Amino acid sequence: MRALGVSMLWLMATPLAAAELRELELWERYRWGVIAVVAAGLLQAALIVVLLLERRRRMGAQRLNLAVLDSLPGAVAILDRQGAVLRASAPSAQREGLGALSTQRLLFPGGSYLQSLQKLAHAGEFETAGVATLLEDVLSGRVDEGMVEFRGPRADTWFELRARRLELPGGGAVVTVVDATPRRRAELEARRARDERAHMERVAAVGELGASIAHELNQPLSAILTNAEMAKRLLQRTPPDLTLLGEVIDDIVADNKRAGEIIRRTRALLKKDQGPFASHDFNALVRQVAQLAGNDAQLRGATLSLQLADTPLPVKGDGVQLQQVVLNLIINALDAVSPCPSGERQVWVRTQRTEGRVELVVEDTGVGLSPEAHKRLFEPFFTTKPAGLGMGLSISRSILEVHQGRLQAEPRPGRGTLFRCFLPSA
Ligand code: ADP
Repeated sequence: MRALGVSMLWLMATPLAAAELRELELWERYRWGVIAVVAAGLLQAALIVVLLLERRRRMGAQRLNLAVLDSLPGAVAILDRQGAVLRASAPSAQREGLGALSTQRLLFPGGSYLQSLQKLAHAGEFETAGVATLLEDVLSGRVDEGMVEFRGPRADTWFELRARRLELPGGGAVVTVVDATPRRRAELEARRARDERAHMERVAAVGELGASIAHELNQPLSAILTNAEMAKRLLQRTPPDLTLLGEVIDDIVADNKRAGEIIRRTRALLKKDQGPFASHDFNALVRQVAQLAGNDAQLRGATLSLQLADTPLPVKGDGVQLQQVVLNLIINALDAVSPCPSGERQVWVRTQRTEGRVELVVEDTGVGLSPEAHKRLFEPFFTTKPAGLGMGLSISRSILEVHQGRLQAEPRPGRGTLFRCFLPSA
């Protein structure tokens, strides 16, 4: 019975043992293969985890970059060496008004900022031409960084664009555009205050001078009056005392000479700050003045165009005084165009050589000359401006006379006024 049980157990265990034996053989045979497959699987999983973590880290860094770009004032863009936008601050991060700028609208990733600027510059957008030139210089490595300022689309708005070369093997640049309006307004305000003060000082000086001339002239003039009355009385006597009359008339002549001397001395005093006569290139003098007047033109939203003769224009004289004449003509032209609608405020300044003379023309599209203004333009103290002194043109004419030059005004065909100034060519 026991033997039967043992054989039954043997019979039942045999298939199991066989299977185990087969598995054991398989494991023995493919062990390394299986280990390799499992190891490869684990490695792949680890790689995927590492890549996912790396991607998350990169996206975090990218988000940080964009957040930093967006939080910077104004608009910022990173350009590649061809001038294409790689990254830019979001339009929502750009201040209102800045987005309306043509240069701003071009700051979107994927577009070529440089090419768009070049196209606009080609189409005659003057402001864009300056920006395009700066970018070309920075991207080509001619300069490391630069800044241009240009006017915004709305009146009295200014922007400042800075470009800086990226110190990377691939090159490229960072462009920043910020609103420069508050700074420019403060500068213009300061200048206006300074001009105002200078004007007040001039008025005060003229007043003081006038008072002192009046005071000095008063004495000989009253002496002349007293002596003339005395002469009348002497003539009424019979017979008239001709000797005394002669003395009285001599006194009148002496007092008259004194009055003349006072006037001569005053003129000498006025001429005191006249510099030495020297040779100048009239083009250079005009160019400097036009630069000085650039701010005034911007302040009035006017376009000031300069067309200078190709060759130097030598003149002899006091450079400062000649510049005073040019500045006065330009400021008057800018004042004249101020009331005109924007876009119609044009002033041209031209120089040329005509028949051995140097000619300056200042032409404007302004309010023009009334018949009265045309007649009295060069009279001292004639002005139609609320804060005008009315001395600019009369002083300009005197300066030109000292330089053997001439100044004349005529209505401009169409609208406005044209001033012509001639100087002998040196
Ligand atoms: P001010 O500028 O202080 O008035 P000016 O002697 O320079 O003194 O000018 C005298 C006047 O001549 C001005 O007030 C103006 O009426 C007139 N005038 C001068 N330039 C122009 C111009 N370009 N267009 C129109 N009027 C002008």
